[in-house]
Amino acid sequence: MKTMMNRTPKIALEEHFSAPGFDAYSAKYTRALPADFVARLDARLSDFDDQRLAEMDAGNIEFAVLSQTMPGVQAEMDVASAVRRARENNEFLAERVARHPKRFGAFAHVALQDPHEAARELERTVVEHGFKGALINGHTLGRYYEGGEFDVFWERAQALGVPIYLHPNAFSQPPALLEGMPVLQGAAWGWGVETAGHALRLLFGGVFDRYPRLTLLLGHMGEALPYQRRRIDSRFAAYPSGIKLARKPSEYIGSNILITTSGVCSAPALLGAIGELGAQAVLFSVDYPYESTAEACTFIEGAPLDERTRALVCYGNARRLFKLGSPQDLALLQI
Ligand code: MN
Repeated sequence: MKTMMNRTPKIALEEHFSAPGFDAYSAKYTRALPADFVARLDARLSDFDDQRLAEMDAGNIEFAVLSQTMPGVQAEMDVASAVRRARENNEFLAERVARHPKRFGAFAHVALQDPHEAARELERTVVEHGFKGALINGHTLGRYYEGGEFDVFWERAQALGVPIYLHPNAFSQPPALLEGMPVLQGAAWGWGVETAGHALRLLFGGVFDRYPRLTLLLGHMGEALPYQRRRIDSRFAAYPSGIKLARKPSEYIGSNILITTSGVCSAPALLGAIGELGAQAVLFSVDYPYESTAEACTFIEGAPLDERTRALVCYGNARRLFKLGSPQDLALLQI
């Protein structure tokens, strides 16, 4: 059994908390769950100083970038309230992160009901608090972000040099295919379909051509997109669509779109994703507290990777992305 001292260092970036009062936004997802299960979840989501750090220590996760759990203010019908509460959420998180600045970073919570306000809040949190980017929970009240009205947000993210994590949300409209099958509309399947579809809307909507230095993060081993790259290319080329892209669709997946391993502790899936995207595009994450920190850490340490690849996935890519490592650290990993 490995001790903490010789476990590979890790950085994790799909790690959730919930600010006071924000559980009301999540109620529609937790309503059907047993009360004691929800109580345990709430306790872990609101903890920053005890169990969260103990689990990070046990798995040698040196740094975790924290984000408000879904859907947050993106479910808020009143735009002014969404903008105000997003800011309150970020101030709360900044205060909590400041207690452990070497262990925690932050993704901003933004109200995309108003793209200009979302861009302004992203910039404010990066400049004032050193936030690492933003995590957005899919669509906002059914709106997706490939249209020009959202360019102000993408432009700001690119200009600030910070990534945007596109996290799942429930379907805006469940497809007829999954009617009567709530089990398939949730995290087991539907959220991934919804999120991969949203990422492709951004890609085919030209967002990465307009903002070629923009980085989008997808969790859950890329929401299955790594395995469809070739077919997306070949069928896009085969059938006229009227859409022109600067590059083949696959070329954005692994450059503009990076992925994390959250919730997919499967070595064949990891090797497939690295084979498709390259080792520089795959980053370790847990999806705390919905997934097991211990399982995620044991998985990545035992995965059949050479040690340089393991170092890139566990921390090297994250240090590059978040500008955390010294130049010497990054040079050692040839990144
Ligand atoms: Mn998550």
